[in-house]
Amino acid sequence: MKRWFRVFIISIFALAAVSLILIQLTQTRRTFSISDNMFNVSVSNAMDEVISQLNSEVFQTATHPATSFNYQELDSLIVEELLINGIDMHPIVGLYDGSQGSFLYSSDPSHEKKLEVSPYRYSFQPIGVVSSNQFYIILAFRAADLFLMRHPNIYLYMSIFLIFIIAIMFLISIRTLANQRKLDQMKTEFINNMTHEIKTPIATISLASEMLQDETISQDSASRNNFVGIIADENQRMRVLVETILQSAKMAGKNFSLNLRTVDIHPLIEHVAQSFKLTIANRGGSINLHLDADPSMLEADELHISNLIYNLVDNGIKYSSGAPQIDISTTVEDNRFVMRFQDHGIGISKADQKHIFEKFYRVSTGDVHTVKGFGIGLSYVAQVVKLHHGTIAVDSTEGIGSTFTVSLPIA
Ligand code: ADP
Repeated sequence: MKRWFRVFIISIFALAAVSLILIQLTQTRRTFSISDNMFNVSVSNAMDEVISQLNSEVFQTATHPATSFNYQELDSLIVEELLINGIDMHPIVGLYDGSQGSFLYSSDPSHEKKLEVSPYRYSFQPIGVVSSNQFYIILAFRAADLFLMRHPNIYLYMSIFLIFIIAIMFLISIRTLANQRKLDQMKTEFINNMTHEIKTPIATISLASEMLQDETISQDSASRNNFVGIIADENQRMRVLVETILQSAKMAGKNFSLNLRTVDIHPLIEHVAQSFKLTIANRGGSINLHLDADPSMLEADELHISNLIYNLVDNGIKYSSGAPQIDISTTVEDNRFVMRFQDHGIGISKADQKHIFEKFYRVSTGDVHTVKGFGIGLSYVAQVVKLHHGTIAVDSTEGIGSTFTVSLPIA
């Protein structure tokens, strides 16, 4: 996917998501406002009824509300009328003398301040009362009750839920796009690296064979051995390369299973070490074996364990800038067969150590130290270790070197 197209898609998506969230928020606010109005109308209707009942029946002969009201009756009348209008609440009720500026009655005297500022205030002039004072019945609703009643929860929760879903979907899509891009890049790098890795040994082998065809060289046994060694080395390198890619792909398949046999690991290590001897010697380095594990027999898949050893030694050599110094040791610890592959190479930073076992991961300075690779070797090694129910760990310091420790169960 082209960069401009990706930016375009993400922008459109972001715009759509933000608009959707805004619409949702506006809609929710509108719903709240409608339910606010409905609530106010219902309270108003209930109070109209309350006042008309007070006027017509109970207090017609009273001279002053303060002397004639049965306030408990007033409370229950209000609750009853509210309920008829769909409001199941017990508000604080007050009877206020507007001219005196004082309450003749309040159902909860500690909340008179609240009553004074309440918008639910209804003018009330009892028929027959000889007074020019202006009376009000005032209601105050508890904030929590009001919130629950006026804001139908279902809308609130649904809106929050939908906004949450939209946000999550947006993040997932962005991540998928980013992953897609990373995969594209990895694919391109993989093809470039593979071409390079295969082309180099082919060129080397063809050069060495040309040399061998030259009679003056083929008659000198030292030179001949050197070129035959080069051909064998490069051939082995290509074999393991192809093997690693093929086996790694196979292992990802569902039907993959190991071909387990009782294998002596020491000869496998010796064989791999032998195959690298010439390369290491040419670079002035050395490979040392300390094979102390006893027993050294394991239930293992010989092919994959060989490839594992080959990959770890190959990396140790590849990532040593000067003369490679490779130490391989084996021990038995707690009924586990432990192999350590130590090099004195360029090392791996702590941040990269977390990722090196991921497929296609290469340390980003990989091309700076001109070492080509696929980023597949260690992920394959980790797969092999896992299939053998073992563990792998790396201990590395930049500029000093790395030790890879593979531990496999003996039983
Ligand atoms: P690659 O084909 O790149 O060698 P690997 O999966 O074998 O792929 O290794 C992943 C990365 O880990 C490499 O790119 C390299 O940067 C780093 N690495 C692996 N082994 C070593 C080592 N012995 N010393 C330093 N860096 C290493």
